[in-house]
Amino acid sequence: MRSTASVLHLDLDAFFAAVEQRDKPSLRGKPVIVGGTGGRGVVSTASYEARRYGVGSAMSGREARARCPHAAFLSGRFHAYRATSRLVMEVLRDLSPLVEPLSLDEAFVDLAAADLPDLEVATVTEVGERLRARVHEVTGGLTATVGIASSKFLAKVASELDKPDGMTVVPPGTELDLLRPMNVHVIPGVGPATAERLRRAGIHTIAELELVTQDELVRLLGQAQGHGLWQLARAQDSRPVVAEREAKSVSVEGTYDSDITDRRLMEGLLTRQAREVGTRLRKSGLSGRTVTIKVRLHDFTTLSRSSTLSSPTDDGGSIGRIARSLLGDLDTTGGVRLLGVGVSGLADWVQEDLFGETADEEEVEVVLPEPPRRTWPPGADVVHDDLGPGWVWGSGAGVVTVRFETAETPPGPVRSFRADDPALHRFEPPSDD
Ligand SMILES: [Mg+2]
Repeated sequence: MRSTASVLHLDLDAFFAAVEQRDKPSLRGKPVIVGGTGGRGVVSTASYEARRYGVGSAMSGREARARCPHAAFLSGRFHAYRATSRLVMEVLRDLSPLVEPLSLDEAFVDLAAADLPDLEVATVTEVGERLRARVHEVTGGLTATVGIASSKFLAKVASELDKPDGMTVVPPGTELDLLRPMNVHVIPGVGPATAERLRRAGIHTIAELELVTQDELVRLLGQAQGHGLWQLARAQDSRPVVAEREAKSVSVEGTYDSDITDRRLMEGLLTRQAREVGTRLRKSGLSGRTVTIKVRLHDFTTLSRSSTLSSPTDDGGSIGRIARSLLGDLDTTGGVRLLGVGVSGLADWVQEDLFGETADEEEVEVVLPEPPRRTWPPGADVVHDDLGPGWVWGSGAGVVTVRFETAETPPGPVRSFRADDPALHRFEPPSDD
């Protein structure tokens, strides 16, 4: 913990959904759900309008549809999210050379390394407000929530307090007053399972956690997490903001002597592996946002598929659900000889790297071929030879319906075409990463 509020955490609000609403004017102010479009998919991000119906990250598409049937369900456009993220990270790097991105929509910034006259509360407050305005400007209207405090932990907690489109500065010396009444789940790394274990021990708030001895916590949660939580309950966190993060992941995989062809068996194996990944994450006090499956086919082709959530998880059940849904996208009819599940994009809320497991990528990864260009996933960008740019509003029974609008136009008209209309094209800018 520093003596100044000089760690800034910026979090873009409902990022994927916000990019969609920016680029699709007819969806502004309406419930938008990215992910969960297929029968077995899961929700990646829900707009605030959809969250009001109880839709959240990692929920199954089926449940999201039951809760908010009138929402626009879109498949993700990662090229647009990456491009927008890059603009935001540039703004942060203009402010300070020490920027630590946690994901596409989240980063820490070290204000002590910025060129500021001082680090008084009034000064950093003004810096935070100017930064939020600048992010709004360069992203074409997206909002960010900012937390500024004396450590990464407190900055992250602070950025959750005034969401969306807000800011909280924690004056040095007031950290414990802020933390004590809060539920233990605000501590990053305390997922549902850890919170449940603490609840059963009668610990709900950080004030209650603070009363537990370090030995007791270690007995309850294991060495790494017990020690880490004991420190965080006292607002003790001296982790530096580091510009380059090592890509970390926790994964479990198995190889099989004979090819597995039974889909239900594959799902069962992935479920078991996901549970183990969840256990390892919790043991290390980690949680992550990107779930990846690895599948080696009978002909030794190795495929991987991943899905990114808007908030980190360490819950084996959620990881398993995502893993099974990712498997649903792959053709495994010839049988598989290896299956694996991993979680990356980790928040290392416990400093020690006690888990010795990293994703081992010695195999040559074969990226799945692009989906055929004549498919029309909801939300995808298209261009019509005469009518210009738009997006897929829906498709089925040989018909595709397009709304013709962009970030720069007012809400546009809807037109339907035959799915094989030669004048209609998918549009995706070439990937540069
Ligand atoms: Mg966010």
